[in-house]
Amino acid sequence: MATGEFDIIEQFFTHPVKGPWQSQGVGDDCALITLGQQRIAVTTDMMAMTTHFLADANPEDVGYKALAVNLSDLAAAGAIPRAFFLGLGLAQRDDAWLSGFSRGMMALAQSAGCFLLGGDTTRTPVVQGQHAPNSICITAIGELPPDAGLTRAGACIGDDIWVSGFLGAPYAALMHHWGKWQMSSENFALADVRLHRPEPRNQLGQALLKIATACADISDGLVADVGHIAERSKCQVLLSWDALPVHPSLKELDDEQLREALLFGGDEYELVFSAPVTARTELQALSKYGTVSLHRIGTIRSGNGVWLETKDGEQVSVTGGFNHFSEN
Ligand code: ADP
Ligand code: MG
Repeated sequence: MATGEFDIIEQFFTHPVKGPWQSQGVGDDCALITLGQQRIAVTTDMMAMTTHFLADANPEDVGYKALAVNLSDLAAAGAIPRAFFLGLGLAQRDDAWLSGFSRGMMALAQSAGCFLLGGDTTRTPVVQGQHAPNSICITAIGELPPDAGLTRAGACIGDDIWVSGFLGAPYAALMHHWGKWQMSSENFALADVRLHRPEPRNQLGQALLKIATACADISDGLVADVGHIAERSKCQVLLSWDALPVHPSLKELDDEQLREALLFGGDEYELVFSAPVTARTELQALSKYGTVSLHRIGTIRSGNGVWLETKDGEQVSVTGGFNHFSEN
């Protein structure tokens, strides 16, 4: 059963799609909309200072990341980023913050070829005598070939599960910021870049259009997001602990911390996807010559939910990850 934010979405915001703009409906990283001969992917992400960013985060990083997480959803659909809209709620006018924020955002927009077409700017409400922290809502639009586009549905029994890049760094950096974990300054610096400057995998997503059967980006944690693939594809994911790609900054972590960071840490913005066994050679070549390395981390089988083969060869059910409104 859905819990927390997903329960809210299911209960109040899942309605049949009517009208000429047909899409697959709520539940994927993007809505894929067919418009005559064309297809677009649309996503929106809402973020607030202190919830999604450290209160004192560098505004240039905030601007960069606010757009990057939306581009990452377009990557999960395999779409080419084209345009975005920016809704801003500001506690006050702070030109130094705005200048850094827009610089970080527009530099990424430029390099991704995704342009700002509009938005809205308001002041945040007063709560207990103070304006609430800045909030940012971005809607991004990408282009797809007609009839193409990746969703979380489509994984088939027997498929492999793959993930891009190396996992765990953003969560470890956050734990260090919060004073819960101690990392050496060298490893922390390596991990912190991954927290503040995630790299949306748009080129990879586009390359996967003809290869992957289902795809998601990892925003809430590997288990949570691969769980969305299991749910939407009506199958079970079996992950192999030994195959998980560990970010080099995590060397000092103990087993429990490593488990938490790799399985449940959010903010990765890597792609996790299923592909048939016959695609292994092609994916290995893509890993070698493409923009990011790819790792085969599990398989799809019948059933539901996410299971993990531990390093002792035992298979256990796993659940968890970030969830706004979770009761835990
Ligand atoms: P992501 O992490 O990729 O942004 P989520 O997993 O948070 O996506 O969202 C799951 C699905 O629920 C998405 O398809 C999203 O568009 C949809 N969704 C989330 N909130 C709402 C809402 N308030 N109204 C309608 N759909 C929503
Ligand atoms: Mg997503």
